Amino acid sequence: MDKRDYYDVLGVAKGATADEIKKAYRKLARQYHPDVNKDNPAAAEKFKECSEAYSVLSDEQKRAAYDQYGHAAFQNGGGAQGNPFGGGFGGFGGGQGFGGQGMDDIFDMFFGGQGRSNRGRADNGPRPGADLRMDLEIKFEEAAFGCEKEVNLNREEECDVCHGKGAEPGTSVDTCSECHGTGEVRVTQNTMFGQMVNVRPCTRCHGTGKIIKTPCKACRGTGRVKRNKTLKVKIPAGVDSGSRLRVAGEGEAGIRGGGKGDLYVYLYVKPHKFFERDGTTIHCEIPINIVQASLGAEIKVPTLDGQVIMKVPAGTQPGKILRLKGKGVASLRNGVRGDQLVRVKVVIPTKLSDKQKEALEKFSDVGGDDINPEEKSFLKKISGLFK
Ligand SMILES: [Zn+2]
Ligand SMILES: [Zn+2]
Repeated sequence: MDKRDYYDVLGVAKGATADEIKKAYRKLARQYHPDVNKDNPAAAEKFKECSEAYSVLSDEQKRAAYDQYGHAAFQNGGGAQGNPFGGGFGGFGGGQGFGGQGMDDIFDMFFGGQGRSNRGRADNGPRPGADLRMDLEIKFEEAAFGCEKEVNLNREEECDVCHGKGAEPGTSVDTCSECHGTGEVRVTQNTMFGQMVNVRPCTRCHGTGKIIKTPCKACRGTGRVKRNKTLKVKIPAGVDSGSRLRVAGEGEAGIRGGGKGDLYVYLYVKPHKFFERDGTTIHCEIPINIVQASLGAEIKVPTLDGQVIMKVPAGTQPGKILRLKGKGVASLRNGVRGDQLVRVKVVIPTKLSDKQKEALEKFSDVGGDDINPEEKSFLKKISGLFK
């Protein structure tokens, strides 16, 4: 579920030069290009992934933002200023798609300028709906244990009056007589270099190949309507800030029979008052007093599963880290929970009553050399330093 690191995707080192990045990308792009991997959706995904990685790493500014903020840098379509999640909900990048720049590059690379006109024509046929992105803020515990969240989308959906056809029900959709349904017209020109055939979109049907006589009133002939939709999204245990969830088929409706886009949910986990998280490990700090540190104690420690009793051994030094096994966050990969690391903070009293002072002085008298076990070795170490 975690989005892969862009450097890993391209198989280059973090400090790779622009040239190395380009080379790595070309190699992968050749390997996974859709033209050589027909009917292989896995390759198409790889192609998309490396194109996206390249679109970021090949751009100096985007790369710098990525190096600093990781995937979080591109929550709202770029811009790494401040907290990229600032807006909470919102930020739909309709129609942006992913790695658009990369796709342009690849088409130029393989087909030269021809790629553009190819796509120009494809735009008039069935076109898949845009992917949607949204940011979602969740609580620390929700990320640790997983949850189900309702999200609200405002998206283009198929018009249910005309079922996406764009024609008023009961009226016909005719094949364009100008282009015979192909959506393009060929114009042959005689030039000094010989005959040239020019292909351009049909102006009569605007390249669709179809003529709608009576456009659907509900969608004004577009076949899609904007709708508000509430969706339940299942969030697995172990996600973290920057995790990206793909909800297949919940993007915008396609055009002219194209498939639906996907919804990408970018997660931001709110900081916790007491816990800090590093992957599957949870860190926290517990204050104890000098008596507990010296004599040992059983103290209460909050965990994600509620309070537990932890043993502090006698003679515990300040900063000592104690481990609560299995009290961390579940791994996204295998569900195994990490540990909770408890840092012991020994607090020296600042205000003492006369009685307490007396007791401590007595302790000092009784303790003799054993009060500071390191005193002797320390004195030995510094002896002869200041002769
Ligand atoms: Zn309609
Ligand atoms: Zn036409």
